[in-house]
Amino acid sequence: MQTIQLSLDLDLGFPVLQEQFDVHSYDHYIVAFSGGKDSLACLLHLLELGVPKSKIECWHHLVDGQSDLFFDYPITEDYCRKVCQYLEVPLYFSWREGGLEREMLRFDSPTAATWYETPQGLKTSGGNSNNASTRWRFPQIGGSMITRWCSSYSKISIGDAAIANQERFKGKRTLVLSGERREESASRAKYNEFEPHRTHTKSRHVDHWRAVLDWDEAGVWSIIQRWNIRSHPSYELGFGRCSCIICIFASNDQLASVYQIAPQVIQKMADYEKQFDTYWRSQGKSGYKIHREYTVIERVAMGNPYPMKPEIIRLALSREYYESVVVPNGEWELPMGAFSKDKSGPM
Ligand code: SF4
Repeated sequence: MQTIQLSLDLDLGFPVLQEQFDVHSYDHYIVAFSGGKDSLACLLHLLELGVPKSKIECWHHLVDGQSDLFFDYPITEDYCRKVCQYLEVPLYFSWREGGLEREMLRFDSPTAATWYETPQGLKTSGGNSNNASTRWRFPQIGGSMITRWCSSYSKISIGDAAIANQERFKGKRTLVLSGERREESASRAKYNEFEPHRTHTKSRHVDHWRAVLDWDEAGVWSIIQRWNIRSHPSYELGFGRCSCIICIFASNDQLASVYQIAPQVIQKMADYEKQFDTYWRSQGKSGYKIHREYTVIERVAMGNPYPMKPEIIRLALSREYYESVVVPNGEWELPMGAFSKDKSGPM
């Protein structure tokens, strides 16, 4: 039995679950694979622990669904595909019909259906409710998943539905891994490393392991270097976090960089600011403080774009990852965004 000892960190000032669990005791391992460095580290860590590839699967939630891209980097989908192909781990995509944009514009109508790929093919659930309601607003910044509805709507609830609606998880032990790290924010610092997953029931054992919660950034880059895997192009552009191309937590420098490579994304958000008569990044109910609100275009003007290389811009904006995701031994380099002081991103 290979056990993982979960830590009790007294410096953090709150209790962290302290126990051991046998990492090899599961039938299924689901890695919530965003394409970012931390979820990649989770996947590589599982492999280094010797968990058989036959039991591991990666799940990636497409935030724009099957619609035209708006929130996401064009390259993200294929980057995830190529990494998983290289590592010989199956990758299943899932999404909400119409993605984040449809939900943002939802007016007096029910929430859209969820779609998820499975070993038996594409399945769907939901979307047929008679309960109409209205969103008609941007996601709000903050730690609460209610105001910051983009994460729960386009990722968390999709994964939950895909677990809950697949018979193959019934009567089995499943471990879900996700890549949050305490360093990233005060709210993530309080997460449990190991706990029952939201989808755990009497008939379906599902645990949640935030496998890199206590890792520092150096540890994350170090495991990626050991495997010689190129990071998502957003890091190579200079971003310290890999998130949506236009994330509600984006800094001014990040917005200025996005404007330089994809001005239509910023312009579209500016148009929605006029329609909603509010700011792209407005204050949520969770008490996050912003000293003054600015339009997204004003914030672009206040930022300094990263010195982005044309070949990386081309790659980030491509639907196909046409480079190799693995580099020869000794040639792996830290991307420009590694150890960036600007760590703006999901909290
Ligand atoms: S990356 Fe940012 S905008 Fe995208 S879902 Fe997460 S918090 Fe929302």
